Amino acid sequence: MRNLLIVLSGPSGVGKGTIVGELKKRGNYSLSVSCTTRAPRECEKDGEAYFFITREKFEEMLKNGGFLEYSEHFGNYYGTPAAFVKEKLKYGDVLLEIDVDGALQVKRSYPSALLIMIAPPSEEELIKRLKGRGSEEEDKIRERLKRASYELSKKEEYDYTVINDDLGEAVGRVERIIKDRKEKGI
Ligand code: 5GP
Repeated sequence: MRNLLIVLSGPSGVGKGTIVGELKKRGNYSLSVSCTTRAPRECEKDGEAYFFITREKFEEMLKNGGFLEYSEHFGNYYGTPAAFVKEKLKYGDVLLEIDVDGALQVKRSYPSALLIMIAPPSEEELIKRLKGRGSEEEDKIRERLKRASYELSKKEEYDYTVINDDLGEAVGRVERIIKDRKEKGI
């Protein structure tokens, strides 16, 4: 069975990270570590959540075709290192947790990639979750909501949309989608 490149996207606050964490506990998935030019948040270690690199280094890698996809958010670059993903795909399925612009770039270069959109049950619930994080100011929340509606507007271009209402059910659905795709061998 061929190893799959699985792309998970969805608005900030939707619970993608938690779903990815659960999938990793349950299966033989490796998670791609992206490069970013944003500063590390407290408790983020280099090489875990991201590889934290300078703008100069990012632009140099970009020029040399080092990224499978990339995009810019809130003034910072984010990209998936191509060599890293290629190497990991030799050993198992690889999960990418990236935004819609990046996901659609991946689909162009890897048409067999499986694209899954994680959506909130409603906009109200997303606002509640973003506020519940407690780390975001009002204008940041507004900015993230605007971005959220853009991300969700692209869901038709994804293979599947999974609503994260109940975490266990959402993880189960994602697992079934992956299993099904692997069984069909597409
Ligand atoms: P944050 O700064 O909150 O960790 O991430 C901001 C946004 O960047 C999120 O929407 C996240 O999905 C996206 N992102 C993280 N890594 C990548 C990547 O490698 N490529 C792309 N295109 N987006 C990414």
